[in-house]
Amino acid sequence: LPGVAEVRILLTSERRTRRILAVASGKGGVGKSTVAANLAIALARRGLRVGLVDADIYGPSQPKLLGVEGVKPQARDKVLLPIETPFGLRMLSMGGLVAEGQAIAWRGPMAGGALGQMVDADWGDTELLVLDLPPGTGDVQLTMIQKHKPAGAVIVSTPQDLALIDATRAIDLFNKAGVPIVGLVENMAGYCCPHCGGVSDPFGSGGAEKAAGALGIPFLARIPLAMEIRAASDAGTPPAAGDTDSSGSFVTLADSVYE
Ligand code: ADP
Repeated sequence: LPGVAEVRILLTSERRTRRILAVASGKGGVGKSTVAANLAIALARRGLRVGLVDADIYGPSQPKLLGVEGVKPQARDKVLLPIETPFGLRMLSMGGLVAEGQAIAWRGPMAGGALGQMVDADWGDTELLVLDLPPGTGDVQLTMIQKHKPAGAVIVSTPQDLALIDATRAIDLFNKAGVPIVGLVENMAGYCCPHCGGVSDPFGSGGAEKAAGALGIPFLARIPLAMEIRAASDAGTPPAAGDTDSSGSFVTLADSVYE
């Protein structure tokens, strides 16, 4: 099994072979999709040709995050063509394959087939595919990991105990599949009150860093809980595309993933 340093070299050096970087979380709502989108944009801003696959079959949120809701991907010779987003990023989402507002009740093999088509789409000269996985450690995740063999995985968690316990399960899933963990990102840490300027920790503080230490995996970055991140995400203008404080934390994350 390659170590973390080797994973970074793997991701960095073999620019002509397309690599997959999985972004995963043990549970939903911890900001996995937000982190995946902004990490992908921060990497693209460094000149890397990046694609994003939104494999979250339960709640595909990338079309909204990237301001391309309702844009359907085209196909050529039955091969999907990724959507060009305004942020120097190509993207395919389960959300683009079903009608808006429709319940997504994929059965395992069907979901696996649709996800496979997205990974095997016409990505052209894309060097790195960021894979936004569904939360949890179910069949779809396992199939994706085994079939498409990511070069590494980034795990997203809040500082909270419960989220961390679930993140540990996700880490275990990658370990069993032989996929190296690039590291753990702590999201929704430290909330800075826009009124009084005081910082509070709604989901606790430092938990993820401690857990990463105990698990022997790198701690990559701390992303604050910020109104600006939520608002920019809802508006389809990801913070990493701008030049604010919160874009800085995604730059830090990109630097720690890809040297
Ligand atoms: P997941 O993919 O883990 O289900 P999302 O990325 O969809 O989570 O995030 C869940 C919600 O939390 C979204 O409304 C998102 O805008 C918000 N959110 C995520 N990260 C942050 C953050 N650091 N600060 C503020 N809001 C955030």
